[in-house]
Amino acid sequence: MSEVAKTEEKVVKKYRKPAKKKVCAFCVAGEKNIDYKDVAKIRKYITEKGKILPRRQTGVCSFHQRELANAIKRARNMALLPYVGD
Ligand SMILES: [Zn+2]
Repeated sequence: MSEVAKTEEKVVKKYRKPAKKKVCAFCVAGEKNIDYKDVAKIRKYITEKGKILPRRQTGVCSFHQRELANAIKRARNMALLPYVGD
């Protein structure tokens, strides 16, 4: 590999893609309330460990993030989602 290619690789590794402007998926879908029973949807917003993903990762707006957090907590309470995943 040439020196130039190596430097370029370094640059690429350091360079962070400008985060694509994420639009809140719930706003797009026009959903106001997030159904806690819709585990398939909610699962996308939690880690394997069952933690709620931060907004900067999911692009969910603040309103829906709160709704989502509530839905997740409710789902946990109903044993649809784990408190601690494995
Ligand atoms: Zn939203």
